[in-house]
Amino acid sequence: MSTTNTVIYSNRCKVCRTPIRGVSAWPNKLRGTAPFSKNPNLCNR
Ligand SMILES: [Zn+2]
Repeated sequence: MSTTNTVIYSNRCKVCRTPIRGVSAWPNKLRGTAPFSKNPNLCNR
């Protein structure tokens, strides 16, 4: 049984496909790229 009410966001930005979550997002986080606060499916670039 897996009942999760957690909203699952994409690991990548919908616009530029940049990884913003997960292990692959670490290089981008170091450069300052993070999920956009007003739209978690986009990056803040
Ligand atoms: Zn983006």
